[in-house]
Amino acid sequence: MADVAAYALHEKDGGFVPTTIERRDVGPSDVRIAIAFAGICHSDIHTAREEWGSIHYPLVPGHEIAGIVEEVGPEVTSHRVGDRVGVGCMVNSCRECENCLAGEEQYCAKGNIGTYDAVDVDGTITRGGYATHVVVDEHFVLSIPDGIGLDVAAPLLCAGITMYSPLSHWGAGPGRRVAIVGLGGLGHVGVKIAAAMGAEVTILTRSDAKRADAERLGAHHFHATEDPAVLKGLRSTFDLIVNTVSAGIDTDRYLSLLRLNGTMVNVGISPEGYRARFGSLATNRRSLAGSGIGGIRQTQEMLDFCAAHGIGADIEVIPASKIDEAYDRVVASDVRYRFVIDAATM
Ligand code: NAP
Ligand code: ZN
Repeated sequence: MADVAAYALHEKDGGFVPTTIERRDVGPSDVRIAIAFAGICHSDIHTAREEWGSIHYPLVPGHEIAGIVEEVGPEVTSHRVGDRVGVGCMVNSCRECENCLAGEEQYCAKGNIGTYDAVDVDGTITRGGYATHVVVDEHFVLSIPDGIGLDVAAPLLCAGITMYSPLSHWGAGPGRRVAIVGLGGLGHVGVKIAAAMGAEVTILTRSDAKRADAERLGAHHFHATEDPAVLKGLRSTFDLIVNTVSAGIDTDRYLSLLRLNGTMVNVGISPEGYRARFGSLATNRRSLAGSGIGGIRQTQEMLDFCAAHGIGADIEVIPASKIDEAYDRVVASDVRYRFVIDAATM
């Protein structure tokens, strides 16, 4: 066991404070990573604020981790000391079930083990990336290609794969019209990835505030949805809509925008849930779907794709002492477009 510096929440509404946590000794197939950056995902906020249910304290969130390999166990073959690596939302799974064997560990039949606030195989509670170091089985450690900075790569480990996976699964590409709802951490990476895949990309955001960013991110169209007439004008337009909104929205308003055989995929996990009427689906043989992060193989594919297309997140780097402030700003949609904690400030 080794003590490492971290930022933790010790009680609801208590705020993040510097602390020390234990990391396990490096096992035969483990990699010990010196964390350089950790992104702040809205899921960290839903969790910390117990919007998804009760949690284990102290909570150390963080599942967008980028850093450098410091030590490897004797059986590790895929990473070496000094390598640039990342860890996303999972640190283990059963690796035996149908889904794990298919490379979809996120859908492990026994449930994947989340990077934080999950019960690990040894019975301990996992603690995430708001820390200086983490020890993870090599299978769940990704290689970050040269050419993407560790700071802009960190958010790809959750936001990037959460968008890449459904865009890939539902065939975003040339000739396909894709709309991304909500221009936050997930949304802005999704726009970049969908455009790089060759799709015709539309941003659906609430107001005009982010219009100037649309073109730079690679979007072909931009609409502010606060005017109800805007959505009416877009009926039966899209092949694929990816909803990244962190709050409950009226799904029916968006389902009507799908053309024949179109699919709306919810990746946002609103604590309030989403409402949809069957009639909206029956028209145009529409589908309503969900998607959760992505498997390890696909996460590596996503990182390689992003490196090849020069895609990283748009970030604002903060010291760990500003985590609480950053949470409030994310909830207020006042982030362009991802906060990343500099682990050197732990
Ligand atoms: P984020 O940066 O806060 O972005 C969410 C966006 O939703 C905001 O930028 C905003 O877009 C829109 N929004 C927020 N409140 C809204 C409201 N009341 N009404 C309408 N729109 C609203 O969050 P994120 O990190 O991208 O995460 C988004 C969601 O995805 C969260 O629920 C998170 O837990 C979930 N998530 C799911 C997965 C998965 O595997 N499925 C993975 C990661 C995250 P505009 O300002 O542009 O309107
Ligand atoms: Zn996340």
